[in-house]
Amino acid sequence: MSVKRRDFLKKFSLGAATLSTVLARPSVVNAQSKAQKFNLKLTTTWPPKTAILQEAAERFSKMVRVASGGRLRIKVFAGGELIPALGAFDAVSQGNIQMGVGSPYYWAGKVPAAQFFGSMPFGMNAQQFNAWMISGGGQQLWEEIYKPFNLVPFQFGNTGVQTGGWFKKEIKSAADLKGLKIRAPGLGGKVLAKAGANVVLLPGSEVYTSLERGAVDAAEWIGPYHDEKLGLHRAAKFCYYPGWQEPSSNLELTINSKAWGSLPKDLQAIVKAAAADCSNWTLSRSEAENGAALSRLRTKHKVIVQKFPTEVLKILKGHRDSVISELVKADPLSAKVEKAYRNFSEEVQKWSEISEESYSQTR
Ligand code: CA
Repeated sequence: MSVKRRDFLKKFSLGAATLSTVLARPSVVNAQSKAQKFNLKLTTTWPPKTAILQEAAERFSKMVRVASGGRLRIKVFAGGELIPALGAFDAVSQGNIQMGVGSPYYWAGKVPAAQFFGSMPFGMNAQQFNAWMISGGGQQLWEEIYKPFNLVPFQFGNTGVQTGGWFKKEIKSAADLKGLKIRAPGLGGKVLAKAGANVVLLPGSEVYTSLERGAVDAAEWIGPYHDEKLGLHRAAKFCYYPGWQEPSSNLELTINSKAWGSLPKDLQAIVKAAAADCSNWTLSRSEAENGAALSRLRTKHKVIVQKFPTEVLKILKGHRDSVISELVKADPLSAKVEKAYRNFSEEVQKWSEISEESYSQTR
């Protein structure tokens, strides 16, 4: 080969290599980020095998894995398996684990304003709450209050309106609530305490035994399906409605902000879409199972399913107002969120009155 030809080839190949590097750079980068795999861990706050709630976390993990072609894998743990159930907030906040699933009201002691994103006694129902979150500014406020804790929150389901609780004795008037030992968490518990009840906080695992043995006189849990699974109908014969204490229990997925920021945009979009899907799935599954379970409670288990007396509900609602006004006075962030929640709630409720509620009464 002549020197000239060798030089030419050398120059050409160099030039070609440079050219190809320049042309291919975006796709090389793209291919590199697509080849990068992410392995994250998620802890829930639910006991292992909790129907619907723990299933939703497993479903989320599977959806993300399939949609990302295996680039993002999320290993799911139940409450207590890796992190104590109520340690999820701190563990995700500190980055000891990347994701957590639970209820915002569990963190009332750390972030009082989080309670507005869990459940508000006599507050919005799931449809109204979702409207506030998705289209009424609720999500942005939620992100704002979790930001100082390095948490990025997503909606992760809703129980819908819950049952009002299981009582061993009939509630005929507000006087029957005085001294009543009842398991009731969150703001609903505070409202009952104002009504004179002796409110006890018990984890889900202890609710049935405590009611069955008479350590408590009453207990609220979730809805017909979960209540039946826990066996509450074997421990008390009165099941009251409506679940004024939790008319819409919004559940959350929180992601450590550093872990979230490390994900490429397409994986973030997959996580977002999967969380939204699981959120809808949880509410829909609950609705479907609650219908069937209510029917079993009434016919098979001979439970007395009845409504709280109107007078009792009215008194409880009054106590709710006092609980909220105390919360708002003590915490400026709660005041800000409460104002936004109330404004949206009052307006959307006017519409619901002539839409859902009116229709429901006529069908
Ligand atoms: Ca409940």
